[in-house]
Amino acid sequence: MATSEEISFRFYSELSRSDRRLVDAWRALGNDYCTALLNSGVLGTTRRSHPANRERTDHEKVEEFLARQQAYNDAGRRRRQAAEHEASHGVTARELGLDVGRLTISNDGSGHCQFETTSRANTAVICVAPVVWGSSPWSTTFPLDGDRGCTEDLRRLAACTDTFGARTAWRHAVEILKAHRADVHALADELVKLGSVVP
Ligand SMILES: [Zn+2]
Repeated sequence: MATSEEISFRFYSELSRSDRRLVDAWRALGNDYCTALLNSGVLGTTRRSHPANRERTDHEKVEEFLARQQAYNDAGRRRRQAAEHEASHGVTARELGLDVGRLTISNDGSGHCQFETTSRANTAVICVAPVVWGSSPWSTTFPLDGDRGCTEDLRRLAACTDTFGARTAWRHAVEILKAHRADVHALADELVKLGSVVP
């Protein structure tokens, strides 16, 4: 009586070349003809893919997963950074005694903070706040991308003060943010969660 290996080999030899190649691939992994025939699926209607392809597919799946994870982290990081940026404007304006309106953020790292019109000196402190925050160890994203997204703020700062005034504003912003860093984080937490907040 023929052994299962002999029967399997007969099946194998009657297969098409492409099917034999599939079985060969399973055999190359150390399987006997019987197991290789069954695993390759050439005997059934549903065919399993070449083991090399399966490995690559699994590998690709992992890569895709990691890429998604990274993209999520990057988006989460940008969102957090945007939230702390706007929160630093908001808390500074509030501590200067101003009415603060709506704060908003987007995933691309942009955002906005509304506050009532005030003196040039106060505006300078509010403008410089996220630059101070981003370059401080209180910032979650410190020390990377410290002043990312502050170009517009720096432009406004330059428009409302000179170098001396900017230094004064910087020191004032440091005082406020250091004393109220927990408030900045609390407001940023809400912004990350809701995307838009009226404090
Ligand atoms: Zn800003």
